Amino acid sequence: MRKEDGVNESAETLRIALPLMTRYKVPTTPENYSIWFHYVIGDRPGLNDFIDNLLEQKTPFTQDVNEHIYQQFLSDQHLQQAEQVSKTLVSALAETTAALRHTGSEADHYHSVLSSFDKSCGSAQSLTDVFELLNTVLKETQSMQQSMKRLQQDFLVKSDDMDKLRKELDQVRKQASTDALTGLYNRTTFFDSLEAVDAESNPLSNPYSVAMIDIDHFKRVNDTFGHLVGDKVIRFVADSLRQSIKGRDCAARYGGEEYALLLPETSLENAVILCNKIREHIAKTNLVRSGTKESLGQITISVGIAQKRSGEGRMDLLARADKALYLSKERGRNKVTASDE
Ligand code: GH3
Ligand code: MG
Ligand code: MG
Repeated sequence: MRKEDGVNESAETLRIALPLMTRYKVPTTPENYSIWFHYVIGDRPGLNDFIDNLLEQKTPFTQDVNEHIYQQFLSDQHLQQAEQVSKTLVSALAETTAALRHTGSEADHYHSVLSSFDKSCGSAQSLTDVFELLNTVLKETQSMQQSMKRLQQDFLVKSDDMDKLRKELDQVRKQASTDALTGLYNRTTFFDSLEAVDAESNPLSNPYSVAMIDIDHFKRVNDTFGHLVGDKVIRFVADSLRQSIKGRDCAARYGGEEYALLLPETSLENAVILCNKIREHIAKTNLVRSGTKESLGQITISVGIAQKRSGEGRMDLLARADKALYLSKERGRNKVTASDE
């Protein structure tokens, strides 16, 4: 199933999902609802391929299978991890503030000892009185010094911890927004960027364009050379996309061997020029196996492009680009087609 024609109404989606669950004898738990809801929308990378594969092999949806699907595609581990890290950051901050407050109150105490010393000095009767007073101040000074030292050490440890946590948080954020194999943005981030660009661009004065890209006859690469080589080809195409875009352009891995480009402030004509450059670069690169240097044969891509129209929904725009991609395939592949619907 593919995401098409803006099927994003929850009720409508459930109306389609529920009969599927009944047909495939999937128990109606909230987790399973969520799996089949996203299956109908098609917005979880890999989920639909995975389920389609199970359906093809007539694998029953046992509890184990359902749990596996949920864990792999829907549990949002990255987000949970990010939440955990930010909680730890907050509590580290709270501890530091408490330490500061503690030292602050010790400093107040020290200050009042010094002022009383000042007063007592005036009324001291004998040298013994003065020595006693001096002793008190000395003790207080030492205690204050220790307290300051503790705070300083505490700060050093805490700021190390916080640096570490901040780095971890950045890392988790990056992992959650990118695709592990290629380092390109993932589908979720692509949709977020599309939403942001769509909100701020004016289709009449500064239209943006999107491109859907699919590697041609990719199954052959997998079948002939194996999945690891297939993965390398997926990374090569990703690198070619990354190197060809600039500024606020966004390149994402949309699915297995499918990619999407978001090109803000780019007309259809300019998007076609850019995508043709990418297509030519890929077609003329001779990829070889790392050990034997055996050629993988010509790798090509097909591209479909659409420019945002006034009043058009984002999903409709993507569907037009997808249809143009389909036309490129029909016209013989290794082609760029602009949507003219
Ligand atoms: P077409 O020109 O019509 O696009 O032909 P195709 O062979 O590329 O057809 P299709 O898009 O159906 O095949 C995509 C294949 O990509 C199927 C799947 O096994 C493979 N694939 C999906 N994700 C990955 C991945 O992460 N790594 C590898 N090696 N293969 C993948
Ligand atoms: Mg494909
Ligand atoms: Mg393909």
